[in-house]
Amino acid sequence: MTDPDIEIPESHPRYESLLTRHRIEAGVDAGITSRQGLIAQGRGEAFDYLLGERTLPAADAAERAAAAHLLLADHPVLSVNGNVAALVPGEVVDLAAATSADIEVNLFNRTDERMERIADHLREHGASEVKGLTADGRIPGLDHERAKVDADGIGDADVVLVPLEDGDRAEALGDLGKVEIVIDLNPMSRSARAADVPIVDNVIRAVPGITEHARDLADADRETLESIVAEFDAGEALTAAERAIREGGDEDGGDAT
Ligand code: ATP
Ligand code: MG
Repeated sequence: MTDPDIEIPESHPRYESLLTRHRIEAGVDAGITSRQGLIAQGRGEAFDYLLGERTLPAADAAERAAAAHLLLADHPVLSVNGNVAALVPGEVVDLAAATSADIEVNLFNRTDERMERIADHLREHGASEVKGLTADGRIPGLDHERAKVDADGIGDADVVLVPLEDGDRAEALGDLGKVEIVIDLNPMSRSARAADVPIVDNVIRAVPGITEHARDLADADRETLESIVAEFDAGEALTAAERAIREGGDEDGGDAT
């Protein structure tokens, strides 16, 4: 990917990592990303480094299952927080278009100002409608601020994509019986473990990855999509990622170094 705002040659071995840091910093400066978002990013980077900064075959399979779920859904919703808005705003808009999903802003540290800024930022990247500002719905089992959702957004969704969701919320959403797709580089985090479809991959690779699969599956019949969903095994996906981290090589036998 290229970014006109940043002068790092694409040939730089850590191009993607530097670009990511630049975008998160810019997100903080623009009032989109919280300062705690910087810490979350640092934690994610450590796992990405251990995974070899690539999409594992198991993560690609999870991205395909996620695409199938989103295409099968009656009402898919993509949740966006401050890190996601800074890192992949246009890519989220593309995924929403490819899967006819709604976009909803959801913040751990919710302030009206940051909600508005993120919604504006997403609109600048082509989103036509951004939910999350009405906050007339509640997720049971969470404290007041953390529980807020739009009743006609996440409140009504049957499939939700929650990239980088915090553990409590991921568990509460899972308890609501919605199909939950989580993107999280830490296969041991509660968020990844609560998910029906855990995608252990960097959000900057995972979101375009799901979109690519959704486009590829655009004309697939329900039966095909349902079999992709049925064949996916969340436990196996987490185990494959953990193995790749512990063994430092490719889960398919190669060497990542
Ligand atoms: P919990 O057990 O409650 O889930 P946590 O580890 O999620 O705790 P946070 O500080 O919210 O606590 O961590 C942020 C999570 O987001 C980490 O698991 C990290 O791996 C993940 N993360 C951060 N940046 C990215 C990214 N760019 N792509 C994917 N995942 C990321
Ligand atoms: Mg988490």
